[in-house]
Amino acid sequence: MASAGDTTRSATTQTGSLIVVCPACATANRVPRAKLAAQSAGSGKCGKCAQPLFRHEPIVLTGANFDRHATTSDIPLLVDFWAGWCGPCRQMAPAFAAAARQLEPHLRLGKLDTEAESAIAARFAIRSIPTMILLRKGREIARTAGAMPAGAIVSWAQKAAAQAAA
Ligand code: ZN
Repeated sequence: MASAGDTTRSATTQTGSLIVVCPACATANRVPRAKLAAQSAGSGKCGKCAQPLFRHEPIVLTGANFDRHATTSDIPLLVDFWAGWCGPCRQMAPAFAAAARQLEPHLRLGKLDTEAESAIAARFAIRSIPTMILLRKGREIARTAGAMPAGAIVSWAQKAAAQAAA
């Protein structure tokens, strides 16, 4: 049975370190791979601003931090493209937050407001919302449209990450 941990191990080697981008200040932190599991306990802090590297909740993506999390980070980024006027998006928000608690620190989850950040939404040719896109080192590896419950988000994202790593 594959767990999120297995996904991470198959995606990378056991040794070395990973670049984790701070949710608060977007600084790239180098985290020893062996310590990544401990990040889920909230013990890992940013070397610059001392905020936790993982908060077990989706981060807010903007033009200022999107590329840092999408491209610089070694942690795959799952983006929820949403908008305040979108009923299904608002309904899915608690499910996406619950998925963040399960998928961190193996994935980073972020929300992108397609109204406030329309240039990024246009870059990914978002036609309907909610749409979720999984990115790794800046490359889109999977996309799905429509609201999903938390369990479905978790299993879809884990499967997509594992396939991309294979
Ligand atoms: Zn920081």
